[in-house]
Amino acid sequence: MHSHTFDVVIIGTGIVGLTVAYEILQRQPSSKIALLDKESDVAKHASGRNSGVMHCGIYYASDTLKAQVCAKGAQRMRLFAEAEAIAYRACGKVILATSEQQLPVVDKLLTNAQQNHIPAERIDNQQLRELEPYAATELAAIYCPTTAVIDSLAVVTRLRDKLLAQGVKFFFNTRVVGAQQSQSIQTTDGTFSYGFLVNCAGAYADTIAKYFGLAEDYALVPFKGIYWKLTADAAPKVRANIYPVPDISLPFLGVHLTRVINNDVYIGPTAIPAFGRENYQLTEGLSVGESLDISWQLLKMYARNANNFRKLAHLEIAKYRKENFLQAARKLMPSLTGDDMVAS
Ligand SMILES: Cc1cc2nc3c(=O)[nH]c(=O)nc-3n(C[C@H](O)[C@H](O)[C@H](O)COP(=O)(O)OP(=O)(O)OC[C@H]3O[C@@H](n4cnc5c(N)ncnc54)[C@H](O)[C@@H]3O)c2cc1C
Repeated sequence: MHSHTFDVVIIGTGIVGLTVAYEILQRQPSSKIALLDKESDVAKHASGRNSGVMHCGIYYASDTLKAQVCAKGAQRMRLFAEAEAIAYRACGKVILATSEQQLPVVDKLLTNAQQNHIPAERIDNQQLRELEPYAATELAAIYCPTTAVIDSLAVVTRLRDKLLAQGVKFFFNTRVVGAQQSQSIQTTDGTFSYGFLVNCAGAYADTIAKYFGLAEDYALVPFKGIYWKLTADAAPKVRANIYPVPDISLPFLGVHLTRVINNDVYIGPTAIPAFGRENYQLTEGLSVGESLDISWQLLKMYARNANNFRKLAHLEIAKYRKENFLQAARKLMPSLTGDDMVAS
């Protein structure tokens, strides 16, 4: 077994791990940095499977850290894309209220925008028609011009290549399995000693933290977002991004329509509990121990009704059926039919 020593060891090569390495190098160019991942390349999980929407930050109340970093981060990502000739499209987004109960949330979102200095305006039906001719128009709509979509896979592979060129060492197929007392971690490729360790392990960040006796009170419960895709005939009905006013009692944004960077249009997601943190297909990424642990956490959340979990479970389980899913999508675009959607 090998023994390695670095100034900084970063666990995880998703967008967070790569960006942390990039920023450290900007400040301390001589740092010896190692990036570790259990997979064979960067971004095999969330960072390589997302919709690439650069959110403007309108959902976050002004006293939150997310409010402070979201708009700034999107702006910096745009500058990175321009400097590196990475495709992005400043396409904007509309947020639609489709029931009377959502109207107070519309006001709340506009207040967030004002306090967070995010461009956003309430638009009338005529303006909505010009932006999204097929969107539902009954109630209120907000337009956020700074929402954009980006080629997120190009971002992570460019970061990887730039870091490699600057001498950062990548250790793939290297799983972190434990921590030792003396500033070192155990991996499947030997021991890594560090000056600083940064935990960017995504869905396993809590597991890594627990190796150090941290985050004992936290449990990560994974949810899977299932998306449908619009057929080539139906896709032109969506110009950019059409989102519902979110239910602020739940931690998800609700079923929305997104035109991603390659112009495919997706509808989704559902938010269905996954029985493995990396369970994307039917049985892929499942292990008995992890599935049992997640099931136990889900039962506890259901019993305690944490974060309105019962309401979420009932709403989301219903969306397993295509008709129910379609119903949620049709609130945003009434002319959609089941034939417009194919499994993605
Ligand atoms: C379907 C979907 C759509 C999304 N859409 C958007 C969007 O439009 N806009 C947006 O801003 N965000 C979106 N997100 C969220 C965004 O993708 C994530 O917030 C982001 O990718 C998280 O990055 P990360 O680096 O923290 O985690 P990850 O990308 O998951 O990276 C973590 C890495 O850690 C590694 N790792 C874990 N455990 C170990 C271990 N023990 N040893 C070694 N390596 C380990 C993993 O292999 C992985 O490579 C979406 C997410 C999903 C799933």
